Amino acid sequence: MDVFYDTHAHLDYDDYKADFAEVLERARAAGITKIISIATDLTSSRRALQLAEQHAMIYAAVGWHPGNAHEAPDDIRSELRELARHPKTVAIGECGLDYYRLPGTQGGTAADDEKYKRKQAEIFQQQLEIAAETGLNCVIHQRSSFDDLFAQIQPFASRTKGVFHCFGESIERLQKILGLGWFVSYTGIVTFKNGQNIRDAVAATPMDRFMLETDCPYLAPVPYRGKRCEPAYVKDISLTIAEVKKCSLAELSSATCDTAHRFFRRLSSMS
Ligand SMILES: [Zn+2]
Repeated sequence: MDVFYDTHAHLDYDDYKADFAEVLERARAAGITKIISIATDLTSSRRALQLAEQHAMIYAAVGWHPGNAHEAPDDIRSELRELARHPKTVAIGECGLDYYRLPGTQGGTAADDEKYKRKQAEIFQQQLEIAAETGLNCVIHQRSSFDDLFAQIQPFASRTKGVFHCFGESIERLQKILGLGWFVSYTGIVTFKNGQNIRDAVAATPMDRFMLETDCPYLAPVPYRGKRCEPAYVKDISLTIAEVKKCSLAELSSATCDTAHRFFRRLSSMS
């Protein structure tokens, strides 16, 4: 069977509480041998590491999601540095900027928007610093914030690398990311009927510059669209991507797993 990795899953969410063992079993049965559980704050980071300690196939990214940066303490660096030391921490994140639902769209003022953006930028900056310091790479969340985010990562581009997860931007933006030597990853959106722009991006991404992910419990691919997503569905994503790349599943497996090992260097080589 062709082996694939789910490089972006939220296994610490309550969505999996009732049937966690079955979720992992279905992943294994589908050939998904490694899963990176992505944190959204420090508590979620600890939960992800706990899962990684309990299950050989699970690894963790530790960090703070921009969508709840306003809840973060002023400085998360010392705790994050500590969490980054864990042997199963393979990246910092998810981190970045998210301007999709600014306070201004929900009755807030322009000043509220500025404050919200400033806090996101501070928390992101701290995570870039820890990534550069620890030699870990970053899992990047970007929504409606590309230009600001791109400006912020520029000074770090030679000291850490990032993967723009759930990539869904233009080819021009893809080229900017690739030009930095950074990476992208693709979710189940690639299987959606209205996902042609994502398939075009996949077609334009070199085989050694992208990875596969579910972003579960969100974004279940066809034929599960709208249901709870889980790591086993990387299989369905791989089928569509192999078709777009006009390659075999074996070629896609070896390219994406190699990229994951280069990017998440603490992933063990055993599958
Ligand atoms: Zn995510």
